[in-house]
Amino acid sequence: MTMDRRGFLGAGALTLAVGGAWAQGKTVSVTDLDEAAQRPVLKLGAVRHPVPIASIELLRGERDHFVRVRSADGAEGLSVTNSRANYLYPIFLKQVAPFFIGKDARDLESLIDGVYVYKSNYKMSNLALWCCVAWVEFAVLDMLGRIAGQSIGDLLGGVVRDKVRMYYASGNRQTTPEEEVEVLKGLMEKSGARAVKFKVGGRMSQNADSIPGRSEGLIRIVRKALGDDVTIFADANGSYDAVKGIEIGKLMEDHGIDMFEEPCPFDHLEETKAVADALTIPVSGGEQEPSLRRFRWMIENGAVQVVQPDLHYFGGFIRATRVARMAAVAGYTIVPHMSGEGVGYVDLLHFCSAAPNIGPFHEYKGGIERTGQWYDPPLKFKDAAITVPKGPGSGIQLEPSLLARAKRIQ
Ligand SMILES: [Mg+2]
Repeated sequence: MTMDRRGFLGAGALTLAVGGAWAQGKTVSVTDLDEAAQRPVLKLGAVRHPVPIASIELLRGERDHFVRVRSADGAEGLSVTNSRANYLYPIFLKQVAPFFIGKDARDLESLIDGVYVYKSNYKMSNLALWCCVAWVEFAVLDMLGRIAGQSIGDLLGGVVRDKVRMYYASGNRQTTPEEEVEVLKGLMEKSGARAVKFKVGGRMSQNADSIPGRSEGLIRIVRKALGDDVTIFADANGSYDAVKGIEIGKLMEDHGIDMFEEPCPFDHLEETKAVADALTIPVSGGEQEPSLRRFRWMIENGAVQVVQPDLHYFGGFIRATRVARMAAVAGYTIVPHMSGEGVGYVDLLHFCSAAPNIGPFHEYKGGIERTGQWYDPPLKFKDAAITVPKGPGSGIQLEPSLLARAKRIQ
């Protein structure tokens, strides 16, 4: 395995204040990975007294679901769910929220492990469980941050950057190659992003393309169309077996694509590793992965060079930090997958504000126009980056009437 593209430092003059760089992998031991994952994550020294959790409510607003947590002393925290709350709410209400009631919010790290075995929740260890846990975790961290006067990044170990460079992700699969490069140019123009991602393959499609020849055609023209100073990612959403994945990956290398996401079905780790072993560009993955141990396997074996837990699907900031730390041991980076609704990009900003080994660009799918006004100052996509909200907590300042109109789900 050569490392020339994997040592790539991102487009142009990136600074550590904004984002990290790809890094080279190195041999690691399971013991080192476990030690990194098990180190305490939260810094809660500024929260000096117990914070018993008195209530956790799920509220359905006009467009979003909110989770509101209250302490026995009247402290409050809020999170915004992704749209899966529309159908996951019974799990949230019956299997997850009750576990946290009466517990000290300062024990959040051990509570995240505890809810996994509560009522045999581990038997449904996938995003159905972990989204619900994440929404509680986000709201509890918001509350602790407001008590401490600190941002979520501060609680996650300390803010190391105040801006995060974003790549704009296109979700199209039905455009022609020529149409898609125009879409990508448009996304960069409207946001100022200097990095983009496009889709290849048919999505979990056993090598079939969405339109015959679209993926190869797009890979061949995209670098020339966008220019040399743009970072370009491609995402197959598990479309290929190892043989086809290697073929497509080599074509990407020949045409200057910078990262290949989910070449093979997400749970086919051996085939993903085979693709990574054959390529010089980094392979990324993990957006569906619910298991810390399988992330450990991927990192130990170099199946991916960039880990991509979703902050919602994987159960929140604490568990994602554990993955980031294991990746750091191997010299790898983390580029979390982003749940596309609500304020997923803000969750990402807070995570990236504190994780040392993030990649150079992070996922953005739009939405700042709608929710930017929830923050003071409003969030803006400027100079290819978004500024991290300073908090306290998540930094969200919702219109009180928005919450007042939301209905509590029971
Ligand atoms: Mg993806």
